[in-house]
Amino acid sequence: MHLSGQILTPSGLVEGTLDFAERITGIAAHPAPRRYILPGFIDVHVHGGGGGDTMDGPEGVRTLARFHARHGTTTLLPTTITNPWERVLQALEGVRQVRAEGVTDGADILGAHLEGPFVSPQRLGAQPPNAILPDPERLEQVLALDVVRVVTLAPELEGALEAGVRFAKAGVRVSLGHTAGDYEQACTLIRRVQAVGGVAGATHLYNAMGGLQGRDPGPLGAVLASEECYAELILDLEHVHAGSFRAAYHAKGDRLLLITDAMRAAGMTEGESELGGQKVIVREGRALLENGTLAGSVLTLDRALRNAVSCGVPLAAASRMLSDTPARYLGLGDRGRLEAGLRADIVVFNAQLDLEEVWVAGRRIL
Ligand SMILES: [Zn+2]
Repeated sequence: MHLSGQILTPSGLVEGTLDFAERITGIAAHPAPRRYILPGFIDVHVHGGGGGDTMDGPEGVRTLARFHARHGTTTLLPTTITNPWERVLQALEGVRQVRAEGVTDGADILGAHLEGPFVSPQRLGAQPPNAILPDPERLEQVLALDVVRVVTLAPELEGALEAGVRFAKAGVRVSLGHTAGDYEQACTLIRRVQAVGGVAGATHLYNAMGGLQGRDPGPLGAVLASEECYAELILDLEHVHAGSFRAAYHAKGDRLLLITDAMRAAGMTEGESELGGQKVIVREGRALLENGTLAGSVLTLDRALRNAVSCGVPLAAASRMLSDTPARYLGLGDRGRLEAGLRADIVVFNAQLDLEEVWVAGRRIL
């Protein structure tokens, strides 16, 4: 197969043709149409979409993987929500099953993001009130499933430092978030994770972690100040202001990754929906719980790309936040860039940045 256009390579845009089968075989330069060929998107934080949710079990995971693939996501981590422990384990088991089977015409499922229940009861955001402590027994139950790639952890919880180290040693990315802790606690968790060779991140930067003050940097300050710590950001321009996004972009550089945090309502008719057993109302692109709390999003990553560009970020840098950076965060060497030998996970946009084609491992699905 081949695609002609403006190909975004690690060394910049190349005008020409990209050749591929399941993997990319080569890039040849010559005059080509004005459309953009970019690496497929990687979403490390997505609960649902197209009516399906990770907590529904395998069918929900397949539904969301197909829905988001049609919006440019070629790899994703179905994300659980804070729920009774047995429900969370069941959902992880569902992700494991779908990962093994694969999803026809859907994104590649790499594993799960465990968001909650190891979070602060004071910073639940839209998570249901089932937060619990990360005790060693629960950790071993999770690790035995060998499916979690990212865990959200509030650093101030009893046992959180030990849990962070245990997860990091098992290769799980430790993402601090849904936290009411302070700057020191956040710095300590980041340091402890890095000390054992782990990778630290932050769950939806700015949301559910408090603000940054001159005399009180908080966890947000700890993440922005760390050179190594990665950070997720929901760029629907509802969860985060364009100015706050630009500040994070300049502070984090190639450590900032865009996520959707999407719910089952993404791609559905607006109105009533559901998140973690709670009622959600979606109106004009915003999703709220009944008490007015901003819930997950109805974002897709093709729109996140357009939003980043509309905030003044060059296309190449916007693309990196959706592909190369999440791939580096997860330690994936086989995707995230358009380069010979890597997976043919490809998205094609026209000159107005409308998504036109999506290829997952060389298979066209849009
Ligand atoms: Zn979430």
